Amino acid sequence: MALKRILVTGGAGFIGSALVRYLVTETQDSVVVVDKLTYAGNLASLAPVAASDRFAFEQVDICDRPALDQVFATYQPDMVMHLAAESHVDRSIDGPAAFIETNIVGTYQMLEAARHYWNALDDEKKAAFRFHHISTDEVFGDLHGTDDLFTETTPYAPSSPYSASKASSDHLVRAWMRTYGLPTIITNSSNNYGPYHFPEKLIPLMILNALSAKPLPVYGNGAQIRDWLFVEDHARALYRVVTAGEVGETYNIGGHNERKNLDVVHTLCDLLEELAPQKPAGVTHYRDLITYVTDRPGHDMRYAIDASKMAQELDWKPQETFETGMRKTVLWYLNNEAWWRSVQDGSYTGERLGLDA
Ligand code: NAD
Repeated sequence: MALKRILVTGGAGFIGSALVRYLVTETQDSVVVVDKLTYAGNLASLAPVAASDRFAFEQVDICDRPALDQVFATYQPDMVMHLAAESHVDRSIDGPAAFIETNIVGTYQMLEAARHYWNALDDEKKAAFRFHHISTDEVFGDLHGTDDLFTETTPYAPSSPYSASKASSDHLVRAWMRTYGLPTIITNSSNNYGPYHFPEKLIPLMILNALSAKPLPVYGNGAQIRDWLFVEDHARALYRVVTAGEVGETYNIGGHNERKNLDVVHTLCDLLEELAPQKPAGVTHYRDLITYVTDRPGHDMRYAIDASKMAQELDWKPQETFETGMRKTVLWYLNNEAWWRSVQDGSYTGERLGLDA
């Protein structure tokens, strides 16, 4: 296959950086990252590929249309993988405005910039172009029955400002395909975990709190169920979709790893007992640090993905089980203290986060 130039938005974030590391190390394609570098963007997550001549970085806000036009004109991408978003549900409850701006208006600006660029391509490049929008299973809302799974045709019923903004962006992407013919593809994935995950999210928060003898806060009774996907499996799936998926289609990507939040925390504590047996002062068992805190408003009870379309049509399956992926993740945090310390103390961007409270 001819080498491609791929524009990745949000490439300094958790999933985006895993995708970019995968593209640069596992394919021959070139990558240009467009990222505003909000608190969630961290250039240190791209350090492993930063020296490659197939990697470029542009600090650009996806709401800034002239800057986007300039990026398209300069780099002439063959495809777009759009991940830039505000992504943290709790932040969307405290301050939804940035979610409306980036996730909805920013996606609109990306679609318009891509459409105008795409319209001017020759027929061969036009046919090969893809706008791949990366979204979440949270657009489907809540599952109550234990046997149900989200499929690609599950109706949308988002619960939080975050999931509502992502649902809006999915609708815009479908409309740009239907109305203007822009060759789009959407993926909706379950919760990701793995290396370089920002310490405000459940799994890294629990690992790092445990290592500092801080409480491990579990929402409500911890019975909420999530399907966990190792981020490197997700990166591989995204590349499979953008290179072999059908234009106009949606693909659900999941890890076949449904776990209650409390079980996730127990697994992490048990792994730490094994991998970090030298506990901080005052800690006998990591599990003793678990505390139950008031549940998040509107908290969805269960998400679970039916990823059989990915398996049947694109021959993709996750390589990691929950146990192997979690072990890799805990080991990564134990071996990469400089990365997470720089996030905790704010030296990665200069913005200090209230993560060590
Ligand atoms: P993240 O918060 O770690 O990274 C988001 C990135 O987008 C950051 O680098 C940030 O600087 C950048 N960004 C934010 N606003 C921007 C703007 N206005 N212009 C340009 N860049 C901007 O998010 P993530 O967890 O890596 O998620 C990536 C995508 O995948 C998101 O679209 C998210 O909705 C989706 N997703 C995430 C998960 C998950 O479990 N994390 C699951 C399914 C889908």
